Amino acid sequence: MPELIEWPCDVPECHQLVVRSGAICDYCYEVRCSDHDTSQQHPCHLISDQESRRPKKRDIRLRYLSGLIEQLRLHSPTILEQASELNSNKKCTLTIPENADQLLDSGLLAGFNVHFMIEFEDGIKWLLRVRQDQGHPLPLQIRKANIESEVATLNTLKAGGIPVPAAFLHVPPEHEVERVQQEIPFDYFFYEFLPGETWHIPKHPFFSVTLSDEKLVKLVEGYAQVQIKLSQLQLSVSQIGCLKYTDSGELSVGPIIARGCFQTPKPPYLLGPFNIMKDRYLAHIDAALQYIARGAICEWDSVDAYLWHLELRELVSNSKVLGRTLSRVYIKHDDEKGDHLMWNEKEEVVGVLDWEWAHVTSKEEAFSSPYIFYDMIDYIRGDNQLTKEEIMLIDCYDRYNRPDLAECVKNGRLYQRLSSIGHYDKAYSKKGFREPFEPIPISDFHPPAQDVDWRVYSIKRYQNHKGLVETMKKFGVTLEKAEEDARDWHARND
Ligand SMILES: [Zn+2]
Ligand SMILES: [Zn+2]
Repeated sequence: MPELIEWPCDVPECHQLVVRSGAICDYCYEVRCSDHDTSQQHPCHLISDQESRRPKKRDIRLRYLSGLIEQLRLHSPTILEQASELNSNKKCTLTIPENADQLLDSGLLAGFNVHFMIEFEDGIKWLLRVRQDQGHPLPLQIRKANIESEVATLNTLKAGGIPVPAAFLHVPPEHEVERVQQEIPFDYFFYEFLPGETWHIPKHPFFSVTLSDEKLVKLVEGYAQVQIKLSQLQLSVSQIGCLKYTDSGELSVGPIIARGCFQTPKPPYLLGPFNIMKDRYLAHIDAALQYIARGAICEWDSVDAYLWHLELRELVSNSKVLGRTLSRVYIKHDDEKGDHLMWNEKEEVVGVLDWEWAHVTSKEEAFSSPYIFYDMIDYIRGDNQLTKEEIMLIDCYDRYNRPDLAECVKNGRLYQRLSSIGHYDKAYSKKGFREPFEPIPISDFHPPAQDVDWRVYSIKRYQNHKGLVETMKKFGVTLEKAEEDARDWHARND
């Protein structure tokens, strides 16, 4: 589960709460607090080799999916009744796989969702889209906001002529909400079935996507066409957050619903909406700092991660660009891996899928290029030059007479670098994160190039920050130790 919230330890009688990425074990779907996470108490630690990990992971997934299929069978009359009610009372049938193996092989299983086919008497097909929860349902307010936001996003896109499936959510009458929610133990909505194929687009962390040159040209072109349509979508809202409908059916902006650390581990869980980009990024950085301080994220490099986020915080606070008022916002897909596009036999884009976690944001962020087009070895080394793929994308926009979108690609690094909030990785050179903020209007900001010196510099720079003092204490880091490490490093390397 990508949400960073407090989960109770699954050992009976233990009342400890666990917050960390991967809190739910991939091999047994159980949560273990640190006391109960020893090899004796949690045998999954004994599975050491890749060979035995894979079948173990598959087994637990199969067991979970079998349970889901059983629940689906049990509740199919209610689900069919709801689908029928949402589609002019037409009769329909639901195809439920015989077992989990069949479901795994069906192609209807995605990373976080699973789909089941619904067919109406007139041949129209819908999919039942069910969230997977590894047997640990999220708190109701997150689940509800998440589903409602994806439905609102899809229907807004559909109305604006973007090729996405129309979505349908069954809302029970007020007095029945609780009963229906208790009755059906999974979250779902319905959407139209779109024919078409997705491309498998492998990407090595250091290199470009693995596609032939010809196919890459098509991918960039198809992507550009979708982005142009998205840029033409006139929204009646202007805040930054996730779309939702008000009770009276009007489109509005609700809080950010995201994976990772853009939330709080306790209620109310969700942050936002925001009026300017600066507030949104500061809220995200502050949330990240709290998770780092708890040891919930970046646990290998807690103090460096804390310092790096403090530096980002200072850069964001002093940025003029991020302080601008937005006159218009645009929808940004949250998972642009390339396989979110669906193609027909003529290799034209006929659908765009997977809008969970999509949000509305500034034009500059919405049209910066997707990570499959820039996150490669040079970017990791701190180079912010445009990549081959980005130049192709700019050429596309120029051909379609959209210099404004080309400009967003050229200036996209600020937003791409900020998408690393919560994901500190020392392999990524720090200078690459500072450059997009230039000129930096902070007269005494001169961070040294080497990480060992930067650590000393930053500890001194932020020495009065209460959270930093506590985090250093918790993880056993002192200024003296950092200075000693720097001296040793220079003695070895100078
Ligand atoms: Zn386990
Ligand atoms: Zn425990």
